[in-house]
Amino acid sequence: ATPILNGNIKFENVNFTYPDTGIQALKDVSFEIEQGQFVAIIGRTGSGKSTLANLIMRMYDINDGQISVDGTKIDSLNLNNYRKQIGFVPQEVFLFSDTIKNNIAFGLDQVTDEEIDTAAKNAAVYHNIIDFDQKFETMLGERGITLSGGQKQRVSIARALIKEPRLLIFDDCLSAVDTRTEEQILGNLGRIMKGKTSILIAHRISTIKNADKIIVLDHGKIIEQGSHTQL
Ligand code: ATP
Repeated sequence: ATPILNGNIKFENVNFTYPDTGIQALKDVSFEIEQGQFVAIIGRTGSGKSTLANLIMRMYDINDGQISVDGTKIDSLNLNNYRKQIGFVPQEVFLFSDTIKNNIAFGLDQVTDEEIDTAAKNAAVYHNIIDFDQKFETMLGERGITLSGGQKQRVSIARALIKEPRLLIFDDCLSAVDTRTEEQILGNLGRIMKGKTSILIAHRISTIKNADKIIVLDHGKIIEQGSHTQL
């Protein structure tokens, strides 16, 4: 049986330097996220937010300190099984020259139309899609249409949500979405991620005001952490 991800994440004195450039992106970072929490990560450009998300995704090995997931060291988890349970939306959206449907269903074997619809609705992009003549069969890319930045982000969010992830990580993927639509998406997340962990890297105060925990990074260090009222 494959272990179910609960979404408890613990960083203990984590240091991380990018091997190619020698840039130390995280310095002595410690925090704990409990299953079911909605956590916001904020900080200015280059403060280490994406790096932190990438380390949770286990894209790199850390130099020292420890990252554990559900009490197990991250590097002893089965990587495939671990990542399969995470809905990760990277900062740079990648869409293929393929139909919207296949872009949302990317990486999954069997997906029903109903699941596609639900994911699109939860990502607040359903109405945009059904306005196209070919609806979910609309081609993207060179031989198809070009989506707006906000639409691309929402298709990318739909792709993460269709996995029914046990852990959700948004790397600044609401930047091109207007505040009303953002509010809709956050409302949907509150419902579908109830009891599961969500980590949002964000810029707007509107995105993070309901977070259980806010982590503030500056030059690779955590300078504050707590709830909105505590900070
Ligand atoms: P932004 O808000 O601009 O996305 P960020 O807070 O997410 O910034 P990171 O992208 O984590 O910050 O970058 C932290 C530091 O690590 C920066 O100095 C950046 O130049 C460096 N860095 C980021 N990604 C890489 C990489 N793949 N290779 C080398 N250095 C990197």
